[in-house]
Amino acid sequence: VLACALVLALGCQGAPGRTLEDPFRVLGLETAVLAGEASRVAETATELARARLGLEPHTRLARSTLRFYPTFASFRAATQDANTAAPDAYGLTYPHTRTAHVTLVPCPSATLRVRGLTLHTRQLLAHEATHLACFDALPWLNDLPGWVVEGLADSVAHETMCALGMAGPFEEEPHSATRLAVVQELIAEDRLPRLEALLADRLEPLDFEQRYAARWILLEFLRAREAEACRRILDAAFRARPGDRAGARLRAAVTAEWTATELVALDAEFRGYVAAFEPRWRTLHGSFGLDGSALVTLAWPGSDSLVLRDEPVEELPFALEGRMLVHEGAVPQLHVVLAHGEESFHEVSFTAGRDVVFWRYGRADNSWTSLARVGLPALALALEQEVAFRIAVDAESVSILLDDALVLRVRLSGATLLGPWGLGARAGACGEWRELAWTQGR
Ligand SMILES: [Zn+2]
Repeated sequence: VLACALVLALGCQGAPGRTLEDPFRVLGLETAVLAGEASRVAETATELARARLGLEPHTRLARSTLRFYPTFASFRAATQDANTAAPDAYGLTYPHTRTAHVTLVPCPSATLRVRGLTLHTRQLLAHEATHLACFDALPWLNDLPGWVVEGLADSVAHETMCALGMAGPFEEEPHSATRLAVVQELIAEDRLPRLEALLADRLEPLDFEQRYAARWILLEFLRAREAEACRRILDAAFRARPGDRAGARLRAAVTAEWTATELVALDAEFRGYVAAFEPRWRTLHGSFGLDGSALVTLAWPGSDSLVLRDEPVEELPFALEGRMLVHEGAVPQLHVVLAHGEESFHEVSFTAGRDVVFWRYGRADNSWTSLARVGLPALALALEQEVAFRIAVDAESVSILLDDALVLRVRLSGATLLGPWGLGARAGACGEWRELAWTQGR
């Protein structure tokens, strides 16, 4: 869950004195390279956020601090007094100290060394940097609705990741695709509040993840379909002055834009806008993101990561192939999951320097059954070395190849492997896939 919370306290404008060359003070990162990366992400987000708000670039009043924490526990210990409302948040921004507190998620130091800041950390940082930029325009965001504050922060975070080459269209980027799927489900179950309620942040029936998803996609919808109205509403809110309640100005601006009848029509258009997306990935556990052409995963220390593709396999024979890269981690292991169902799934685990195992997992008794295993010479599947893989399934068997060499063949009815498939990693592991391709049928 990528989320953050705002401190419910009035801010004040910090002391002047920052220089343009040094807008952020970075604390809690081990190297100057990582600190430089953090500054670049925050700078990019700041400029994009200021452009959204119609503010001049580089007119921030005071230097801001980005403070990083190696674990969620240390982040919570430092911030929980100020944040009792959102115990799940991994980031928090204080207006009065102009400080964004950010958890390094998840953070094996080996991963930091090899890959730099994770995609998830960059996304979270861009989100918090957007709050900092908003505080420059308006030190009291508390009475603004969530779609303006959190929706804007998530929208700018996605745009920041695109600018850095680390995201793509909403439907193909696992984080935003998952959020689209979440809101589509709410609509299908008729649980998404009407537009009028969303605009006022009346989201009571929704849980934490659903709220952030709804706020984000509402802002994206307004940007895409009602750009001028959206600009006027944000303008009304962020041009408020001390003593002038921004929330009241925003509500007045919303009322000025649309009549009740128009809002009903706009609600229908909003639902159609969301329904038209075809989200390709659904993240169930862990973090997934795009880095250039690579799909990168990080598994949280406590659980395996898993993302499902929105195109189940329906016909034999089928093959799934591409290139994989295993990074150093607690256990350097990547997964391809097949036949992901309510009762069970099958999994091919690739452990660098060790083996390939074909598993069946049963949910009822939480059982892992090894159906076949092959130990590998370390070079066949090594840390930090890209290797081609292919999993081919026909009516009688499944074959697993590495760099075009057959390493494992298991006889079983291929029909049991049809259905949803996905990718993942062992708890605490990190890895990448490139050039993914799949075929099915003759
Ligand atoms: Zn936030």
